[in-house]
Amino acid sequence: MQPNQMIQEINKFKKEKDAIILAHNYQIPEVQQVADIIGDSLALSRAAQEVNNKLIVFCGVHFMAESAKILSPHKKILLPAIDAGCPMADMVTAEDLIEYKTKNPDTTIVCYVNSSAEVKAESDICCTSSNALKVIKSINSKKILFVPDQNLGNYIKNKVEDKEIELWPGFCITHHRVKGHEVERAKELHPDAEVLVHPECNDEVIQRADFVGSTSQIISYATNSDKTKFIIGTEMGVLHKLETDNPDKKFYLLSTGLICNNMKKTTLNNIYESLKNEQYEIHVEEEIRIKALKALDRMLEIS
Ligand code: SF4
Repeated sequence: MQPNQMIQEINKFKKEKDAIILAHNYQIPEVQQVADIIGDSLALSRAAQEVNNKLIVFCGVHFMAESAKILSPHKKILLPAIDAGCPMADMVTAEDLIEYKTKNPDTTIVCYVNSSAEVKAESDICCTSSNALKVIKSINSKKILFVPDQNLGNYIKNKVEDKEIELWPGFCITHHRVKGHEVERAKELHPDAEVLVHPECNDEVIQRADFVGSTSQIISYATNSDKTKFIIGTEMGVLHKLETDNPDKKFYLLSTGLICNNMKKTTLNNIYESLKNEQYEIHVEEEIRIKALKALDRMLEIS
């Protein structure tokens, strides 16, 4: 089927089935073009809660669709590419946390939303890359374990003096591989551009950046800035929204390594098949969902 015909079929199914398509900023442009709402993982989970549609096609990776299901248990959440996972989310398990808690009963566990439902269920509170500092500051206890992203955890740790923050050794394979010398090189090539990076990048990249923020914060910083040139240190999919919203500004990807293969697994054909066959439905065991919801709700209360 030709892409145009496929888009027509997708729109037809959307109407017939009262469905909505949510897409993460890191999805391929074709997917973002058919999406009704584009955003980061938290914005999309909130959108999934707020929309009235009973069928939601979530174009992202598994943990994101799971978060939407935790927050909206009565809606049918579909993940079009069932093998779209997140290597960082897999770097910590619920069993790891159960064992850790036995040995460290006084430590509060803060869990980045890029984690499985089971891991959220064993955590005290969740956070995103935009509210992590606020979440950490809201915690009364001195000892904190931050899972699974050591880079985001370290970025926050450097801003908080009155807590003992232990970092789980997980990382995003896409952001972690960018090197400090790549920032230097990009600055040489584009001396009048500002460097905007995601806190999932490692410290040598963060130290060389002009601005550090979540995907949404990077988009809003560049959109509201008087500057016209930016070096972007997050997954390349974000360039689509940056360039669409800011046709007069120039964006340069910091590194060719900034591509997440899992985020690129969803295609127009996957979305078409997903709507047609209502696949692949995301399920979360109720006992785990209730526990994970507590950690997510605590975060939402303070954000
Ligand atoms: S960009 Fe990183 S954190 Fe996001 S899905 Fe890919 S591997 Fe996971």
